[in-house]
Amino acid sequence: MSILVKNVSKFYGKQKALNKVSFKISGGEIVGFLGPNGAGKSTMMKILTSYLNANEGTVIVNGFDVLTHDLDVKKSVGYLPEHNPLYLDLYIKEYLNFHADIHHISNERINEVIGLVGLSPEKGKKISQLSKGYRQRVGLAAALLHNPEVLILDEPTTGLDPNQLAEIRSLIKEIGKTKTVLLSTHIMQEVEAMCDRVIIINKGKIVADKKLSDLLENQEQIIEVEFDLRVEKELLKTIPNIESINNIFDNTWALSFDTKKDMRPVIFDFAKSNGLRTLLLHQKTNSLESLFQNLTS
Ligand code: ADP
Ligand code: MG
Repeated sequence: MSILVKNVSKFYGKQKALNKVSFKISGGEIVGFLGPNGAGKSTMMKILTSYLNANEGTVIVNGFDVLTHDLDVKKSVGYLPEHNPLYLDLYIKEYLNFHADIHHISNERINEVIGLVGLSPEKGKKISQLSKGYRQRVGLAAALLHNPEVLILDEPTTGLDPNQLAEIRSLIKEIGKTKTVLLSTHIMQEVEAMCDRVIIINKGKIVADKKLSDLLENQEQIIEVEFDLRVEKELLKTIPNIESINNIFDNTWALSFDTKKDMRPVIFDFAKSNGLRTLLLHQKTNSLESLFQNLTS
């Protein structure tokens, strides 16, 4: 077990930021920690990394209690804090040297990590000269220097443009092949893109903890279709595997099916054999989105 959180509560004065939070994460998992702003994600992550103490409960990371063995926890955890606070005036190498000194890390390892996170082309630059995407790579490099078993990444992709986003996501996925990763986000597509499992937190409480494969397994298939002509509902009922039929407007329908087989070609053929044409055929895979909205709205 890499991370064990049991009945953790945290108050800021009178405000309860975490309310009896419990979860476990096994070695090698990439887990998305999903929740709206203010849900308690950063607070939980600061507790996991021994930067903040909980008021109640137990937290064990890599076998170490965060209260009594904070140094051992810090040694085995790589942490990318929210907003990635960097010293802009430092050169990349200087900044990483500063982190390396804390953990007694060799120059060789610094160069290795620079290569690992794809910083080599920019490595002669000052942090202030880097794009946001490259700054995130510096933060990731700092978190990886001491080769920790567990990575805690607090909103690692917030504020990146679409290209940087894709690059950092694939980098995290790559790194995650050999580490346990907990990453927070308020974007559910992010979880779909990177994670094996999602833990959803809302107002300090865990409201869901599911494997992505289970979510996809139980997903019903919804297809939005627009025909060129009016269709009777009775006729739509003759499409194989159809479960529900909703008229959205005019000739546009939302059809749901009780099968995982892609039903778009079937609908296309149905249209053709009934003298209709499909103007739009859109398959929706929104189970995580609707789960998130239901649980956090
Ligand atoms: P998230 O990271 O999910 O956005 P946070 O853990 O930052 O959520 O915050 C959880 C709650 O605790 C929020 O209501 C926030 O306003 C409050 N909070 C966070 N940090 C502090 C602090 N240092 N002092 C007082 N309240 C705080
Ligand atoms: Mg936060």
